[in-house]
Amino acid sequence: MTAERKNFRRFTYAEYVDYLKPFVSKVKFSQVHVHGTWKPTIADYRKAAEKIKIIQAMWRFHTVTNNWGDIAQHATIDPDGFIWEGRSLLEAPASASGYNDADLDGVHPFMFEMIGNFDVGAEKLEGAQLATAVKLTNAIISLWKLPESQIKFHRELNPAKTCPGSSVSKASFLALVRDWRSVDMSPADANTIISKWLSPAWFAAATKAEKDEIHRLAEELRKASGQL
Ligand SMILES: [Zn+2]
Repeated sequence: MTAERKNFRRFTYAEYVDYLKPFVSKVKFSQVHVHGTWKPTIADYRKAAEKIKIIQAMWRFHTVTNNWGDIAQHATIDPDGFIWEGRSLLEAPASASGYNDADLDGVHPFMFEMIGNFDVGAEKLEGAQLATAVKLTNAIISLWKLPESQIKFHRELNPAKTCPGSSVSKASFLALVRDWRSVDMSPADANTIISKWLSPAWFAAATKAEKDEIHRLAEELRKASGQL
């Protein structure tokens, strides 16, 4: 009965967005719920020889101890910025009691966890993990056309909690989501710019310096569109 669930896929951010898109017509997300695991910590994750065991351990705790039917969250962001699959996106999460479902069929919040203890003095939400959290939050509110007010930290839903961690400022997080929106670019747009304008300019460039600069700009576009 408590056999290890065989698999949780691990995605890059760009792969996860491709995975999300077909769900826009299948499920309505009403909010984005942002959590930090507290435990497992980033240190636990770093120590684990097989990273998937960390996800499976959460799944086991959520199903066997908490009896939530499946892992609580739809997605888990690891300290390297990868996104691990969680419960089905079609199912309401076990996010915060009283806030898991919108009382309408096929409507519920999208819930993600970030692995780490982000309370003051513990670990830091930063680098690739923070970038993925910001980009994923923006992807959900953009694809499901939600206002920024529907981004909720767990502690806003349950004031007894510090989750996602007392060192994570909601205002700073929202500011990053807003900044990212202004530079976010779809891979299709980036590739159009590269093939229609940068590539001809590269072939026409007279000097190596010019070619290098065009190459650099193309790489920046690939990065901005989540392709690198
Ligand atoms: Zn939480």
